[in-house]
Amino acid sequence: MRERPKQRYKHAYAWNALRAFLVILIFILFLGTLLDWKIQTARGIIMFHDDLFWSVGIGAMVLTIYFAPMLWRNICPLATANLLYFSLFHRKKLEVIGASANTLHGIRGKIWQFLRKNGTAISAVVFWAIVPARLIFFNENSYATAILLLVIFSAAIIMGILFPVKSGWCTSICPVNAVEKTYGINPAIRVKNHRCHYRYNGTVLSCSGCTVNCIDTISPKFSYWKTQTQKAFHDTFDTKIRRLFVATFPGFILAFFTLLNGLILPPPEAPRVFTIYVIVGAFMVLSAIPYYLLKHFFFAFTTANNGEIHIEKPNDFYAKRKHRMDIIYVASCINIFMLFAANSVFMSIFPVLFPVSAPLARLLYATALIGLLIFSIYVVKKSWNEGIAPNSQKNS
Ligand code: SF4
Repeated sequence: MRERPKQRYKHAYAWNALRAFLVILIFILFLGTLLDWKIQTARGIIMFHDDLFWSVGIGAMVLTIYFAPMLWRNICPLATANLLYFSLFHRKKLEVIGASANTLHGIRGKIWQFLRKNGTAISAVVFWAIVPARLIFFNENSYATAILLLVIFSAAIIMGILFPVKSGWCTSICPVNAVEKTYGINPAIRVKNHRCHYRYNGTVLSCSGCTVNCIDTISPKFSYWKTQTQKAFHDTFDTKIRRLFVATFPGFILAFFTLLNGLILPPPEAPRVFTIYVIVGAFMVLSAIPYYLLKHFFFAFTTANNGEIHIEKPNDFYAKRKHRMDIIYVASCINIFMLFAANSVFMSIFPVLFPVSAPLARLLYATALIGLLIFSIYVVKKSWNEGIAPNSQKNS
């Protein structure tokens, strides 16, 4: 008799250990934020809330998402919370009756179908709403940040109970989903999904189809190209929002950090909440204008010189230009983000934790920025000629 492999996917114990470590880490960060812990050294004070959670924690998360979005999706503590019900109960149901265990009926079924198809749109809107709120109250109030964490983790667990596998959270309304899909257009490193496996009829299956055009099924890049070339995915509301997210993301990041660092000061007489969202919105519009103008230009140029463009018969010349524009936007996002985020890590946090002089801290900061810039140019160059032609897409 053939022995069944104990693990459903490779290195399952190591992945689980890493997930457990991150859950413990986020719990410590949550406690530190709730109780407003500080680390005092001879050189200064580090705040758990502001320095360790917002600067180091979120910074490390964004970098991981940029380099390897699927690595983050495999270990994300929020995804671990969302998949709690799946790991304890739903996977067993899938192993008994197969993918039909995912089927939902009635009002829950209708909501599920909506989330499966429009998840990214909701994720993007939640992200655009939550991040500027950091400037309004989360930065100044560690309790508010702790409550936000509590609400988000509770929502992830509840949505995991209500909807199968990741469809109620990770692949739909999670505020980070839209960011992962954006960086996932051109990831530097490919990692396989190690979250959704189940055994059925003696075989280990890696997907039960809980989501439409899921970025975890094969890779985020594969899902991106499906939206570029297949009618069923190209004209959806979800894809349009996904495109808008890429187009506005550099402006969004720039607006956030210029406001955070006081480089733009909202007029004191205007209502603060309103002004902050207006400024962020204005930066997003400025970022989107060149994107859509260029897209329009490529469309017109292609139809004039390289033949018709129709989703039934995608045009490689046009698809390549659009993809190049997307990957340049993604690369500029990470560089703008690190320009500001790494500044507080290297110039404020590092010198308090380690005995480094200000010139050395500046040198490390500049080296990190130049290193990232060179690397992101390399990643863009690597995917520059990707298109819809067979075998032109890189395996990442
Ligand atoms: S890989 Fe499959 S089962 Fe997992 S989240 Fe995506 S669609 Fe759902």
